[in-house]
Amino acid sequence: MALPVPAAESSRPECAIEDPITFREVDLPDGKVTLDSAVTLRCDFAVEVAGWIRDDLAALAQKENTKLTKLSGVGGHACRNRNGAANAPISEHASGNALDLFGLAFENGRNVALAGKEPELRPLRQAIQRSVCGRFTTVLGPGADASHKDHLHMDLRERTRGFRMCQWAVE
Ligand SMILES: [Zn+2]
Repeated sequence: MALPVPAAESSRPECAIEDPITFREVDLPDGKVTLDSAVTLRCDFAVEVAGWIRDDLAALAQKENTKLTKLSGVGGHACRNRNGAANAPISEHASGNALDLFGLAFENGRNVALAGKEPELRPLRQAIQRSVCGRFTTVLGPGADASHKDHLHMDLRERTRGFRMCQWAVE
């Protein structure tokens, strides 16, 4: 199932995805993680996202004696400028090179929003932050700017001298 990209917009050359893949599930060795909506990503970025979910997030769930079952508020390909601003540079979302995520759900019934201040969830959010910033070159979340106060954005944008941006203030 592909994301509904308006035809006029998807024909903009800067919004073409090289080697696109659309998926709604990631297989785990002992189950699967379901995304609340299908995402379309560039294939090599999708491989990194799937690895993060399968290897890092699933391991964090295991430490909490549960399993990761769902990802919510998932967004992938979108033909737009950064933060939807008219004069901003084109977003990494336009090339299928970025993912947005609001929250995780676990088999034990726990739902964890990535934005939040519950002290008991701080260690888990910090562990997620370490893993996401280890894999992706751009991570923007709560504390980065107004556009990311309620969710996490990750992409693999390449910058000079390998500079990485990890802006998520876990409170
Ligand atoms: Zn984003």
